[in-house]
Amino acid sequence: DRLVAATPIVEEETVDRAIRPKKLEDYTGQQAVVEQLEIFIEAARRRDDALDHLLIFGPPGLGKTTLANIVANELDVNIKTTSGPVLEKAGDLAALLTNLEPGDVLFIDEIHRLSAVVEEVLYPAMEDYQLDIMIGEGPAARSIKLDLPPFTLIGATTRAGMLTSPLRDRFGIVQRLEFYKTKDLADIVKRSAHYLNLDLDEEGAWEVAKRSRGTPRIANRLLRRVRDFADVKFDGKVTQQVAAQALDLLSVDSAGFDYMDTKLLKAITETFAGGPVGLDNLAAAIGEDKETIEDVLEPFLIQQGFLQRTPRGRIASDKAYLHLGLDLPKR
Ligand code: ADP
Repeated sequence: DRLVAATPIVEEETVDRAIRPKKLEDYTGQQAVVEQLEIFIEAARRRDDALDHLLIFGPPGLGKTTLANIVANELDVNIKTTSGPVLEKAGDLAALLTNLEPGDVLFIDEIHRLSAVVEEVLYPAMEDYQLDIMIGEGPAARSIKLDLPPFTLIGATTRAGMLTSPLRDRFGIVQRLEFYKTKDLADIVKRSAHYLNLDLDEEGAWEVAKRSRGTPRIANRLLRRVRDFADVKFDGKVTQQVAAQALDLLSVDSAGFDYMDTKLLKAITETFAGGPVGLDNLAAAIGEDKETIEDVLEPFLIQQGFLQRTPRGRIASDKAYLHLGLDLPKR
C-alpha cells in the first residue's frame, strides 16, 4: 500500500475514531463550507425541521465522512451509514429508510455508485418522504407506499461528474471540499499529536503538513509514522529535522510525492515528451488503472500545478520538470 494513498488503511479506523473531530468548531479549514453549514444547521434546529439533503464532494480523505457525522451530531440526531456499492437491492435501502426517526441523517458514501433501481427508490424518498416500492414478483407483485419521517440524506462522492442529474438536483445543499492549506494541516496534526500524547513542535507540524498532499487523512498517517521514527531514533520529540528525516526515509518527498507520483510525472515528461498524452496510454505506461490515476493521483498534481488536463490529454508543466530536476523542454 502507498503511504500517501488518500484511501483509508484498515488499521487506521480505530486510531481515526479517537482523533476525528466531533463538532463543527473542531473541523479545521474549509471555512466557507463550515460557515454555510453553521447557518443551515441553526436554521433547521430553530424550525425543528430536518436539514435539507446535503451532497458533499471532494477527493478521498478530505473529511466527507467526518463532516456527515458532525452534521448529525450538531443536529443532535442519529446517523445511519451505508455506501453506494453496499445497497444492492431496493429492499436494502427501504430497510434503512423505514428505520429512521424524524430528523435522522442517512449517510450514503460513494453515492455515485448506487444502482439505478436503488436510485429510483431514493427519488420520492428524498422529495416527498415517500417510500414507493414493489414487493413480490410476477402476478403477485404489488407496489406499496409508505410515509417516511422527514430525514436528511447526506451523500458523499469523489466524482461529482458521475452523479445522475435527477439525483444531483434533489440535493438542496451542495458543498465541495478543497485540498487543505498547509496551515490548516499543521493545525490538524497538532491537534492529533495532542490526542496521541506526542511532543510535536511548530516546525515539525509544518514539515508533516507540507508533505501531506492537502489531505488530513494523509497528514494523520504521516504523523504516526514520524512518531515511530522519533520514538526509536530520537527521544520521541518531533522537530522539523526529525520529521524531514523520517519522511525522506519513507520516500515521501518535499512535495508529498511518492514513487507513483514520480513515476507518473516521469512517464509524461520522459516517455511522452511532456504530453499531451491520453489516459489510456498513461495508464499502460505506469501500470496503474485509469480510475486510480483520475481519482487518486491526478487531483493533487493538477491542483498543485504539476499537471494539466486538456482535451488532447495530460501535459506536464514546467513545475514538474523543475521538481524532477530535468531541463525545461523547448516549447
Ligand atoms: P473522506 O470521507 O472524505 O474520505 P474522512 O472524513 O474519513 O474523509 O477523513 C479522514 C480523516 O481525516 C478523519 O479520520 C479525520 O480524523 C481527519 N479529518 C478530515 N477532515 C478533517 C478536518 N477538517 N479537521 C480535522 N481532521 C480532519
